Amino acid sequence: MAEKNYYSVDPMGKLMCAQCKKTLVKGKAMFSYMGNAFPVELPVCPECGFVYVPEDLAMGKVLTVERSLEDK
Ligand SMILES: [Zn+2]
Repeated sequence: MAEKNYYSVDPMGKLMCAQCKKTLVKGKAMFSYMGNAFPVELPVCPECGFVYVPEDLAMGKVLTVERSLEDK
């Protein structure tokens, strides 16, 4: 099945969970914005489920996501 991800970040083994000292892995997450949920792939901790949210996603990129939806 083809599932569209609106945002994908591959940690490439460079990011670690500050709590567990585990290497973050790429995992599926839902990013909620203005009442809508978007499927995304973000670095997650396999131990505690911590999701790393990049600053550009938390700030400006959400506006781009919303705009691309309206174009369809
Ligand atoms: Zn953790």
